[in-house]
Amino acid sequence: MQDEILSLQRISESLEPPEKTRDKLFELVKDYANSFLNNLETLPAYVQAEKIKIKTTKLQTAWSIEEILECLQTEVDKYGINPASPGHLGYIAGGGIFASALGDFLADVTNRFTGLTFASPNAVAIENQIINWTKELIGFPTEALGNLTSGGSMANLIAIITARDAHNIKASQVQKSVVYLSKQTHHSIQKALRIAGLDECVVRYIQVDSNYRINYNHLQSQINKDQKSGLKPFLIVASCGTTDTGAIDPLNTIGQLAKEKNIWYHIDAAYGGYFILCDKLKHKFRGIELADSIVMDPHKTLFMPYGSGLVIIRNGIKLFESFHYTANYLQDANTNIDNISPADLSPELTKHSRGLRMWLPLKLYGIEVFTAALSEKHLLAKYFYKKIQELGFEVGPPPDLSICIYRMKIDGGDDNLFNAQLVDAIQQDGRIFVSSTTIDDIFWIRIAIACFRTHLKTIDLYLNILNQKVIELTNT
Ligand SMILES: *Cc1c(COP(=O)(O)O)cnc(C)c1O
Repeated sequence: MQDEILSLQRISESLEPPEKTRDKLFELVKDYANSFLNNLETLPAYVQAEKIKIKTTKLQTAWSIEEILECLQTEVDKYGINPASPGHLGYIAGGGIFASALGDFLADVTNRFTGLTFASPNAVAIENQIINWTKELIGFPTEALGNLTSGGSMANLIAIITARDAHNIKASQVQKSVVYLSKQTHHSIQKALRIAGLDECVVRYIQVDSNYRINYNHLQSQINKDQKSGLKPFLIVASCGTTDTGAIDPLNTIGQLAKEKNIWYHIDAAYGGYFILCDKLKHKFRGIELADSIVMDPHKTLFMPYGSGLVIIRNGIKLFESFHYTANYLQDANTNIDNISPADLSPELTKHSRGLRMWLPLKLYGIEVFTAALSEKHLLAKYFYKKIQELGFEVGPPPDLSICIYRMKIDGGDDNLFNAQLVDAIQQDGRIFVSSTTIDDIFWIRIAIACFRTHLKTIDLYLNILNQKVIELTNT
């Protein structure tokens, strides 16, 4: 038996390359990363996928590192949207700062376990620093608790489940419970409601005003009506930065109302939340401190790579009560209310050191750099909003944060069709990627400025492309 063990060991030892081999792997990967980053300015933001060869290869066939990197370059990192590109102005992509990748690298090498505090108290402390800092930013009390998630959808799900349990909504009460959203609420909320077993709740879509913000009066009268008819208003979701237009709902008045009516108040600030760092924008966040739960996405407006979300619950015990579980085999971990672990606050157990990818860059650069980048993005959106009107475009509301919508109106033609063709032409060109949306049957082109690499010259380039494509399309 020993012989067999040793011979298997000799094979499995290639999983632990010696330093020289590590250096070589590292060198090649480093060159790849550098070449990717150095060429970002000239690489397209979008390339329509051609036939992807990778589908015809077999995972079981081993490749050299050179072959693997070649595949990344010619296949994976070539087609589709390039979310690292400064020209990605479509969905809300932060870009993914390099220092985060170094944090991930170290997190993976050391493989700290951050599901349980006892397993790595200081890696968990790092996560808690990010959560506590965010708590302070939004004026939450110390008893608030939070969790670093894989993204905003997961964070919204955790908040909705906590709200459900805090209001003790059992299956028999679901059909009488009322949820208040607007048509601008992100669809991950509806998804979360369904996953949380709340699909049969009464959902009220509250009207929005001309800035696509929840109409407070309609919300209030709808709640009163529902209460009178014996229904149980249970949850209001406000958006702090909607995905379509970046609108911020009237957070303060909705918060007062929710409190008065004893309704759980959730704020989805996945996109908008970290703009609170900017002094000039702070006033727009008044009332955020009234939320019972809040979601922010560091992979959006803290520019971190994908896989970085965050949820905070004001009354932290409620989060613990919804997600705490224990198992005999975990008796050594001693998790309880005085020794809370991330696994007590989330559906996850085994989890990498998710905080390092955020903590390392925040420590390395300092918060001011992030604040400046956010202020820059906001001003770029205002600049764009002005310039686009000079080019003859119709615009939606002025940008609250860094998203706006616009469209070209054409005489005697189909506006929706024309703008759809315009988006298509921009995407075909590929230097800039933008996306579109439809609100009340009107087709709008969106711009979402969230990548840290997007600067004035990117916006000027996009304005030029837009102008040129409009001319081309109107001349055909
Ligand atoms: C992006 C976004 C979400 C979803 O977050 P993911 O990180 O994509 O899962 C939820 N709400 C809002 C307002 C968003 O912008």
